[in-house]
Amino acid sequence: MRLILLGAPGAGKGTVAKLLTKLDGSVQISTGDILRGAVQAGTELGKQAEAFMKAGDLVPDALIMGIMEQRLQDPDCQKGFLLDGFPRTIPQAEALKGLLVKLGIKLDAAVSIDVPREVILDRLTTRRTCSNPACQAIYNVKSNPPKVEGVCDKCGSPVIQRDDETEQAISKRLDTYTEKTAPLVDYYRGEGLLMSVATTSSDDVVNAVKKKVGL
Ligand code: ADP
Repeated sequence: MRLILLGAPGAGKGTVAKLLTKLDGSVQISTGDILRGAVQAGTELGKQAEAFMKAGDLVPDALIMGIMEQRLQDPDCQKGFLLDGFPRTIPQAEALKGLLVKLGIKLDAAVSIDVPREVILDRLTTRRTCSNPACQAIYNVKSNPPKVEGVCDKCGSPVIQRDDETEQAISKRLDTYTEKTAPLVDYYRGEGLLMSVATTSSDDVVNAVKKKVGL
């Protein structure tokens, strides 16, 4: 399947993407994971992105489009992909449209996951992430803690609170979302690709997607 996942930070895009990859071999492409990996590895991309990310601001569109143009041509995208955290702005959506035409790729849908703001705030302040760039497993201190506190179940690396998950940065990320990313819902409605699912259950989203793509 070839999907865009839309939704505020903490709406569950990453969780849904991981569940969907198990269905048909599609890959999850998370621009947030790619950028965090680059920051930790200290690459040129990471150096350019770091300050924006720490403040809860968006990384410039040109950097993101460079990453995506390469990533979408990797062989593992043949079976499909789930775009998680991209596009984030109307210019990115327009650029993606051109890129997909160029690559001869057609999207199945843009899935908007709608979750109430109070749920989002609670989830983000209690979220913890594996610090290993190759793992980045997600935990929640309340609903899904690691078996041993502070240690990743999957790879044994420290589980930490992200730099951009302080209250101030979270509030900034949500404002940025409302201003820059929420308009994408109307954009994809206009493109005839929008599918909205209002739920706090990732399984509900997965079932709605399965129905839509005929799995
Ligand atoms: P979340 O969806 O939880 O906010 P992500 O992991 O998707 O977090 O992204 C973390 C940060 O990485 C964002 O706050 C932003 O700085 C940067 N980022 C990720 N994807 C994009 C994108 N498509 N365009 C611009 N910046 C991005």
